[in-house]
Amino acid sequence: MNYKNVETNAIRTQLDRTEFLEHSVPLYLTSSFVFEDAEDMRASFAEEKDRNIYSRFTNPNTSEFTEKICKMEGAEAGYAFATGMAAVFSTFAALLNSGDHIVSCRSVFGSTHTLFTKYLPKWNIETTYFKAEDAAEVASLIKPNTRVIYAETPTNPGVDVLDLEILAKVARDHDLILIIDNCFATPYLQQPIKFGADLVIHSATKLIDGQGRVLGGITVGRADLIREIYLFARNTGPAMSPFNAWVLSKSLETLPVRVDRHCENALKVATFLEEHPNVNWVKHPFLKSHPQYEVAKRQMKAGGSIVAFEVKGGVEAGRKFLNSIGMCSLSANLGDTRTIVTHPASTTHSKLSEEDRLEVGITDGLVRISVGLEAVEDILADLDQALRNA
Ligand SMILES: *Cc1c(COP(=O)(O)O)cnc(C)c1O
Repeated sequence: MNYKNVETNAIRTQLDRTEFLEHSVPLYLTSSFVFEDAEDMRASFAEEKDRNIYSRFTNPNTSEFTEKICKMEGAEAGYAFATGMAAVFSTFAALLNSGDHIVSCRSVFGSTHTLFTKYLPKWNIETTYFKAEDAAEVASLIKPNTRVIYAETPTNPGVDVLDLEILAKVARDHDLILIIDNCFATPYLQQPIKFGADLVIHSATKLIDGQGRVLGGITVGRADLIREIYLFARNTGPAMSPFNAWVLSKSLETLPVRVDRHCENALKVATFLEEHPNVNWVKHPFLKSHPQYEVAKRQMKAGGSIVAFEVKGGVEAGRKFLNSIGMCSLSANLGDTRTIVTHPASTTHSKLSEEDRLEVGITDGLVRISVGLEAVEDILADLDQALRNA
């Protein structure tokens, strides 16, 4: 069944019941599956039958998780990975050849940047970056060997929003594959395939799990591309574990209600910070002051859980602000029930030169908050006292 609404697909997509008529889907911890006879075995390996053989290929729990995400994203097919980075790497490794070229937004997840600049060049695959605010100029960066346009939206940590329709038009006009990392938006808030993306990647570790427990990743989209990705993964082994798939599939049932509250709290935090005397500026996709507010409204159901802002007083004030935080967590994760505060200039991006940091919009006072599900009054009180001490 494919229901009209994301919420229903997230809950009612499930494996057929076993003889026990269980209501909640059981966990299939099994590495392999048995065959009836020699002919069954032959036909299964020849892919004449759609069935499980070995859990590196498929497993009932990973298939259920994949099918849910496919329905939520409006995708034809997908494959679930052990982590978000396994999904990102395997997607490129499966689809690209030596000599190919990628055009990507510069504001990408740190490990994706390392993949583009350190590992893919080993196989003679080069990347050209564009700035989030220059998305309209992407066409000018395309070369004869360009195969892929890649972007995240909203971006990390600057929460810039890229216009998916513009990127999709450029990709179509030049016969390129458009890949969107939809991690910050989740399949509930934004479905890039509707705007013309060919593939969508998620780190399921973030809001899809939502409770900071397990790692996971997934790529969904065009069936012909997923077939290549599946064959690559089936032979190289980055599969999601059945246990994580079982946890994540259950997490999806509550994703829409959780994300609604994340977004509601985040917008309140953003509005509060915008009026705070110790804050220079605030960015959240659904604040009217956001430069791409209109684009965000067009392609996202709500603004997401991430708020970026700048504390007055540079690096030192940023550090003092973090040291004064009480309830909120200082952690590298995001999309958790618990509010998480990070200061990229002194932590995740401290190895970059100031010039390189500014290039991706990371000013010295920039703070990123992943707004959680605590009572918003308690979140605001903690941020307020820390700002007064900064
Ligand atoms: C965390 C993250 C990833 C990587 O996911 P892991 O599950 O940690 O491997 C990729 N893209 C974005 C936008 C992320 O936030």
